[in-house]
Amino acid sequence: MLITVLGYYGGYPYQGKGTSGYLLQDDGKNILIDCGSGVLNELSNYIDPLQLDAVVLSHYHHDHTADLGVLQYNWQLDPTNRKHDLLPIYGHTQDFVNFAQLTMDGVSQGIAYNDYEPTQIGDLQFEFLRTIHPVPAYAMKITKEDKSIVYTSDTAYFDGLVDFAKGSDLLITDTNFTEDKTGKIWHMTTKQSGELAQKARVKRLMISHLPQKIDIERMLKESQNYAQDVPTINAFTGLEVKI
Ligand SMILES: [Zn+2]
Ligand SMILES: [Zn+2]
Repeated sequence: MLITVLGYYGGYPYQGKGTSGYLLQDDGKNILIDCGSGVLNELSNYIDPLQLDAVVLSHYHHDHTADLGVLQYNWQLDPTNRKHDLLPIYGHTQDFVNFAQLTMDGVSQGIAYNDYEPTQIGDLQFEFLRTIHPVPAYAMKITKEDKSIVYTSDTAYFDGLVDFAKGSDLLITDTNFTEDKTGKIWHMTTKQSGELAQKARVKRLMISHLPQKIDIERMLKESQNYAQDVPTINAFTGLEVKI
């Protein structure tokens, strides 16, 4: 599996860099995980967006879905070179209004996932875990043979993430705050991300969903400190990780 970061900011794009989006490639399959602001533009630097095999959405906050409508227009307006008749877009059904938007006549088909049985996309198995967030959101574990990637989606820290991420080859976390952040939060701090990586004994941690106005070097240093011996990297546009 090869994962390429297409956007990594939380909330809104900033100075040419987008919000959440990751291209996962495996054995000729192209899967887009989240489709935030700026992601379609960035995706087109790597593949023709008409060559996507699937889109998988963690939740329906705009910083994860902002470019979905224009991706659908891309498929609608340029039908000659599509890899599939309809683009499969996977989402949860806890929000029927947003789930309905995944289906566009002659363009895309919404497909429901849930947290009680895995979803198979090509050779990849996707498992989902409901997170703690103001709207329903799902972390996902993507497994192929003995390799796995876990993406926390957006979430406050909770212990269930440790089991879910256990032993994964790459853990991508929603790390939106510095270690000293206090009060009620809907994302994780550097301390929580680092400790999660350490407790789950993952092989590598990637902090993502980063803040715009805080030095990323500081975010990385704090996370690495709590992750201890787990190698930690920060997401940036174009970062490729092979698993
Ligand atoms: Zn977000
Ligand atoms: Zn969110």
